[in-house]
Amino acid sequence: MLQPQPVPVQDLLHPIFEEKGIQLSILRLDLVHPEVSGNKFFKLKHNLAEAKKQGKRTLLTFGGAFSNHIYATASAAQSAGFRSIGVIRGEDADEYNPTMLHAKEMGMELNFIDRETYRQKNTPEFLEKLKIQFGDFYLIPEGGTNELAVRGTEEILEKSHFTFTDICVSIGTGGTFAGLASSIQEHQRLVGFSSLKGEFIIQEMEKMLTGFGIQSRGKLEINTDFHFGGYGKFKPELIDFMIWFHREFKIPLDPVYTGKMAFGVWNLIGENHFLPGSKILMIHTGGLQGNLGFKEKTGIKLPTL
Ligand SMILES: *Cc1c(COP(=O)(O)O)cnc(C)c1O
Repeated sequence: MLQPQPVPVQDLLHPIFEEKGIQLSILRLDLVHPEVSGNKFFKLKHNLAEAKKQGKRTLLTFGGAFSNHIYATASAAQSAGFRSIGVIRGEDADEYNPTMLHAKEMGMELNFIDRETYRQKNTPEFLEKLKIQFGDFYLIPEGGTNELAVRGTEEILEKSHFTFTDICVSIGTGGTFAGLASSIQEHQRLVGFSSLKGEFIIQEMEKMLTGFGIQSRGKLEINTDFHFGGYGKFKPELIDFMIWFHREFKIPLDPVYTGKMAFGVWNLIGENHFLPGSKILMIHTGGLQGNLGFKEKTGIKLPTL
């Protein structure tokens, strides 16, 4: 249904790597599909297959007005022949931002609801109301994380990636971290960088791993130092870093997830967090569609593909 493109591993070159005795590479999942980009491709693939198997004709999901997940789900639904419904947080959200316009172009029906109601989105009462309003649907949760999504993110790492000592990835809901935790090898360490403010994510991840029956063979680490004020928040130093990173390596990042992760990795390299001999693989989880909306919102033009 969804056809993946090859995702290259790019080795980055910089004098600091030699000085620290490490290697840094990046897995370009952002290139896996032009519209269903990054980790969202892996989170959606088994869900689409399951929806087909159950004979569903409609996908319904939730997200914010700039959501990568909404953007990806709208495109995936269109290409797999599903009707799609996006329940969007905020009745006053901008329905003409680039993410929303793309979703509409893909045929997604958008339903804007107030933040209070949005918080109830997982209650049976609310889901029942949605069924009355839209008819039967296959539900994909906010951010796309469920058991089948994790089965998908378990497929991100391939044998050839087992030569790396450290795998670095951004954390939102943690579905991608969970899949990677399940697939890393004994000699590997997975370092997650939370894009949300707070330590709660550490317990949240433990709960999720237990819930999905995942016991990692490798080492797990969650870093909560690089949220830049919280989800969707940023500081000038993050933007400066992303622009520098693009100039240096010709790779665009997004300000919500991959920019914070790469900033974190760069800082940890500086602090000798990675021992000499480390081979580090950063996962580029995509999210570049958001850079257009970011420009509209902030006036800051970020590099894109
Ligand atoms: C959704 C997203 C994430 C977070 O993935 P989770 O599985 O929710 O942790 C990370 N990076 C990008 C670019 C994303 O779009």
